[in-house]
Amino acid sequence: MKILLATLHAKYVHNSLALPCLAVACKGMDGVETVIREFTVNEHADRVLRALVAEEADMAAFSCYIWNIGETLKLASDLKQVRPGTFIILGGPEASFGVFELMTQYPAIDCVIRGEGEETFRELMALLLRTDGGRDALQGVSAGIIFRAGEEIIATPERAPIADLDTIPSPFSAGLVELNKPLVYYESSRGCPFSCAFCMSSLERGVRSFSMERIRKDLGLLLAQVAQTVKFVDRTFNYDTIRADAIWEFILAENRGSRFHFEIAADLLTEENFRVLRRIPPGMFRFEIGVQSGDERTLARVGRRSELERLFANVRRLREETAVIVHLDLVAGLPGEDFPGFLDTLQRLFDVLNSDGRWQGEVCHIQVEPLKVLKGSPMRKIAAEENYAFSNAPPYKVLRTPTLSFSEICRIETVSRLIDLVFNSGKFPTTLTLVGQSQPLSRFFAAAAKQWEDAGQPATLSQTALFESIWRFTEELLPAGEREEFRDALCYDFCLAEYPAAGRLPGFLTDKDDDKKGNTRDGSVALKQKLDIPSDSRVRSFRHAFSRDYLSYPWGKGPVALLFVYISAPGRGLRIEVLKV
Ligand code: SF4
Repeated sequence: MKILLATLHAKYVHNSLALPCLAVACKGMDGVETVIREFTVNEHADRVLRALVAEEADMAAFSCYIWNIGETLKLASDLKQVRPGTFIILGGPEASFGVFELMTQYPAIDCVIRGEGEETFRELMALLLRTDGGRDALQGVSAGIIFRAGEEIIATPERAPIADLDTIPSPFSAGLVELNKPLVYYESSRGCPFSCAFCMSSLERGVRSFSMERIRKDLGLLLAQVAQTVKFVDRTFNYDTIRADAIWEFILAENRGSRFHFEIAADLLTEENFRVLRRIPPGMFRFEIGVQSGDERTLARVGRRSELERLFANVRRLREETAVIVHLDLVAGLPGEDFPGFLDTLQRLFDVLNSDGRWQGEVCHIQVEPLKVLKGSPMRKIAAEENYAFSNAPPYKVLRTPTLSFSEICRIETVSRLIDLVFNSGKFPTTLTLVGQSQPLSRFFAAAAKQWEDAGQPATLSQTALFESIWRFTEELLPAGEREEFRDALCYDFCLAEYPAAGRLPGFLTDKDDDKKGNTRDGSVALKQKLDIPSDSRVRSFRHAFSRDYLSYPWGKGPVALLFVYISAPGRGLRIEVLKV
């Protein structure tokens, strides 16, 4: 019996953990062959279908999420048309609620696995093997499936969560997880101690962890293979602060160059945690921290238990005392939050991320997402009671709340895009530092978002076009006197972002005498020696005079002439050096 396990990722870099877990659950079963195929939602649907058909599988199991359910249902239906004998199974969060409606609407689906899949999948495969693929076998599955029996759709009882996670065979030991991808998912625990109404993890009670022995063994494999980035999918990694320390210590001792991403509750961090985190080298750890809202009343209405003051204090400590990259999440559209309230929360994030008023490159991120009113989540009840409008189709995005109009939600999305391009990219540190000295950054982003919407924001734009957009925003946002200072800072950031190529200089960088003679191909021996430039490098330079000395902070007085040296070579990326001239 050949089993095809397939999914559609949102992006190529993503890597399935669920499918290898199902494949390894069937390992050792005589007569079962599993094959894993991963695609993205952006791939041509016909090409994906052809690849699935070519597997000639007896059974196809699809892993379903909000980002792929539409495409997956179409694929499954088309596969059934081409190969009517293929037994189609769906699983994953997006297939776990409204199953009867789903199966009624899509006759191609033979069976849905609800909840944790490993035990149910193994039991189902064993029964199908024993009965040589006979559909009557489905009656014998003890729990966790909803299946078709003639005209009827029948549900077995829910399956209890697997009590001992160590009984799940390791997909890493079995060599089923592709470790060469940029991102490798790893789970050391399942479940979350909290119960936020907008989150599916709130439905499961309690947290279960793999044993430390098992965690060391699996993580050890990833570290030995130097997986590029290991993303812990644990819902609240540091729910047990002592366990978190033990895993961080293990990584510190064994890491050979991998990076790690954890979702943590910052308010739970302890002094002992900080003692370990202060030893983490720059760039090795990234913490994703859900703030969601800065309003205690809003958080209370969605049942989110979070000590905000302690959370903000610990985020500040992470920035000041450690080299951990901090990524803060906000959800827009939670009960009671209006547009000014959203901006207050956003400003609070800027304030805690920035202790000395100076922004420096890509060391912290803010992600703003509109609320998703997920199927099966308690947020559906709140949304009904409070007369929310949200999309009926995945990802069930909020469209209007009693306190946020549709246009305000659109404005928040534009703010989010600008934050991503301008703040998260780390390309505008000097410009943002300057803006932050005269006004709250949240207000600047809100005003810039309005201008961008009025002007018709482009779907894509080059880095130079982005710098030019930011320059145009300031026509209305800043008085003429401040605009020159802004131009100066923007020029400095631009020169650090890319080589200002002659003939393609952005408008704000063209009207000074020294710019006209600024481009050179200065590969002089003296320069190469001074900057220790390998002989096979391409060297270009650009000179510009600035009204301040941005090389130190607080900024020194200008004017200061700087020479930017751009050094590149195949496989070594772009290195930029700045010299005073
Ligand atoms: S939002 Fe985070 S803390 Fe809240 S239930 Fe979900 S995973 Fe847990």
